[in-house]
Amino acid sequence: MSRAASVLWLRRDLRRGDLPALGAAASAADGGNVLVLFVLDPALWDGGGPARRAWLAATLEATREAYDGRLCLRVGDPAEVVPAVVEEVGATSVHVSRETTPAGVRRDKAVAAALGEAGVEWVETGTPYAVGPGSVVNGSGDPYKVFTPFSRAWRDHGWPAPATEPQDLSLARVASDDDGWKTVRAALSEDDLPELPEAGEEAALQRWRDFLDDSVTAYKDERDRADRPGTSRLSPYLKIGAVHPRTLLAELRGRTGQGAQTFETELCWREFYADVLWHHPRSSWHDLRPALKGMTYEDNPELVQAWKEGRTGYPVVDAAMRQLLTEGWMHNRMRMVTASFLTKDLHVWWPVGARHFLDHLIDGDIASNNHGWQWVAGTGTDASPYFRVFNPVTQGQRFDPRGDYVRRYVPELAHVPGKAVHEPWKHDGAYDHGYPQPVVDHAEERREALRRYDAVRGSG
Ligand code: FAD
Repeated sequence: MSRAASVLWLRRDLRRGDLPALGAAASAADGGNVLVLFVLDPALWDGGGPARRAWLAATLEATREAYDGRLCLRVGDPAEVVPAVVEEVGATSVHVSRETTPAGVRRDKAVAAALGEAGVEWVETGTPYAVGPGSVVNGSGDPYKVFTPFSRAWRDHGWPAPATEPQDLSLARVASDDDGWKTVRAALSEDDLPELPEAGEEAALQRWRDFLDDSVTAYKDERDRADRPGTSRLSPYLKIGAVHPRTLLAELRGRTGQGAQTFETELCWREFYADVLWHHPRSSWHDLRPALKGMTYEDNPELVQAWKEGRTGYPVVDAAMRQLLTEGWMHNRMRMVTASFLTKDLHVWWPVGARHFLDHLIDGDIASNNHGWQWVAGTGTDASPYFRVFNPVTQGQRFDPRGDYVRRYVPELAHVPGKAVHEPWKHDGAYDHGYPQPVVDHAEERREALRRYDAVRGSG
């Protein structure tokens, strides 16, 4: 059995580069071994859908390779597993990147308390964000409530340069649980998995370099086009920490041009939502703003199921919902369109959709997802005006102007040419291959949504 002076416990930071907690673990070890640990917590593992499990599994395999095979994988409740491993290897400190989601904070409190009782030091260094949630406040010391002033203050606050890898790092070789890697491998061969991108830090950096070479210049103009590969698709890597935003921001700083600027702003949205969640942990599953308290919602399982399966009869909505199921990812514009359809055309409360997204997205992130949903639903910090109801036909015509996106995911409409695909009801023969009729009338439901909003506003 190998001994280790310190433990680096990886969670949402599955990489080796630009990882301040690794530096902290190495200096605490002071020439001794560092044990790199991942704890597969059945409560979390079993709670996610197959695509999420497979993405984590593939990333764990890649991380093991990045650490020269020395990633110790243990299975169980971290509050029990981490202290047990620490005792086993004789370490005196445990190093992590600070977790800021409500569930992460709760878990870490329990683990830190258990370690404290055993006299083991708990050390938090860095977070999954360029600027740690809670660090950006206004002149009165309060958190920002809207994005634009937050983004200004975030840029003024700044962030450190990427961390360099510690020299003379010595990694402990400690056995994993027998069933740990077996579980990981099984997750990679589940039936009906979406086709996943290549996992791991190297793949993330390669994707980033490709994006910088090919797409960042036109990003501002292209990012809304669902039919084109104009965005970075880095979200699954950022989610799992295969790459840190600091690494990306450092390289963006050398670039001028609106594409780079816009991309920096998008990274800031991720930081903003993490900050909002840090200050308002209840907003993960409850309306952030009480503005829509008293709103009436529908509970119609059949319509919700049609939405989930991409059978609403609105082509871009269906294409996007099927993209989610087949790729574990959805284009940002289409996340807004489908969220609007569920909340405003079907009048369903946003957590129903947020849950479905989290089950299927490989970038599923409680802060970005649930506040993205609230943004659309009109209950979030930066709430869109209550009267903004996305029109699924005009959104399709604007952001998939030739209809390629729809035809890619909806084979029943493959025979409908060009942008006619967005209005199958106007095209002879469009329904010949089983595509469903619209489940609701958008114009009517838009009026109904506005009526409901007005009723709440009137009573407020
Ligand atoms: P790019 O356009 O290349 O952007 C670069 C990065 O900036 C993204 O990877 C992401 O980290 C960040 N970013 C971009 N837009 C946003 C945004 N609006 N909010 C927060 N961060 C952003 N993003 C997630 O990472 N996880 C989620 O679970 C998630 N759920 C969403 C749900 C809804 C209803 C909506 C409207 C948005 C959601 N987003 C989520 C935000 C956004 O859709 C994705 O980050 C983006 O589509 C990821 O693709 P990309 O990496 O190609 O993005």
